[in-house]
Amino acid sequence: MALCFVTRQLPGPALDQLRAAHDVEVWTERLPPPPAELRARGARADGLLTLLSDRVDAELLDHCPRLKAISNYAVGYDNIDLEAATSRGIRVGNTPEVLTDATADLAFALLLAAARMLPQAIESVRVGDWLTWEPGHPLGHEVHGATLGIVGLGRIGRAVAQRAQGFEMTVLHTRTSMSTGEPLELLLEQSDFVSLHCPLTPQTHHLIDRAALAQMRPNAILINTARGQIVDHAALREALTDGTIGGAALDVTDPEPLPAGHPLRSAPNLIVTPHIGSATRVARERMTQLAVDNLLAGLEDRQMPHQVNR
Ligand code: NAP
Repeated sequence: MALCFVTRQLPGPALDQLRAAHDVEVWTERLPPPPAELRARGARADGLLTLLSDRVDAELLDHCPRLKAISNYAVGYDNIDLEAATSRGIRVGNTPEVLTDATADLAFALLLAAARMLPQAIESVRVGDWLTWEPGHPLGHEVHGATLGIVGLGRIGRAVAQRAQGFEMTVLHTRTSMSTGEPLELLLEQSDFVSLHCPLTPQTHHLIDRAALAQMRPNAILINTARGQIVDHAALREALTDGTIGGAALDVTDPEPLPAGHPLRSAPNLIVTPHIGSATRVARERMTQLAVDNLLAGLEDRQMPHQVNR
């Protein structure tokens, strides 16, 4: 029997399968285990089930001599030093596919909300500022027939493109290993909406910087449901304030959450949601199942159903 440390309560019944096979400790607080706690628990563990808010770096792994498997409860695994895990013979798994539709739905919900200024409209009713039907206020952007630029045409990017077909949008995308696409500069210049779906890597860190924002159309709206660090937040604040772009809708920020007083929190024409891309009951329960399947396989030294290091 192995010892597993699960860094948060997870929805659905799948953790019971893990408990039936192994000793399982679950961190029951709402906030993540502090680094010292993660080190102490990791030091005794054979398996870790981590969240994207848990930083698993070489220093942590040095404290985890027994560790055989890390199962990340996310499709992105930028919180894990993959090279450090691989060099120590630790298998690392993630949870793709089961959250693709939920995340694509959220990206499209953000696109529509930003285009039609839903937060402002809802607030105007709430505070009693809705006086009568007005021809010129508030005027949003037409989504039907507009051009959508997808940066990262992978699983989620393709699912967003499918949704865009229903709105008869023209869809542009960046090049992938499987297909040709537009250079980023061209996509930024030609799109009314730009939606980010690439992973966070050294190459995509601040991919959307001041220069990239300057290439976008003045009315364009940026949607980010990928990772906060892909967008330079200082440059985004400037672009929203001086009207370089029309608006932005972010499900992910850097850091998460944005602390009180962070300059982006008061930027105009900005929607921020609290990293809820995969937050449907069905998606989260499937993520739990997949994360448990990955961990069970890794602990038995089998290839995980979704293993990200080979
Ligand atoms: P995926 O299938 O691996 O797709 C990622 C795509 O990005 C691939 O097509 C990849 O191209 C492309 N890409 C890689 N580097 C790029 C670059 N420098 N420029 C442009 N495109 C690049 O991953 P996915 O399942 O769609 O998930 C995408 C990301 O969404 C995850 O990594 C995660 O960070 C984020 N996510 C967020 C939430 C949320 O709650 N907000 C939920 C789920 C996922 P190749 O095919 O050529 O490698």
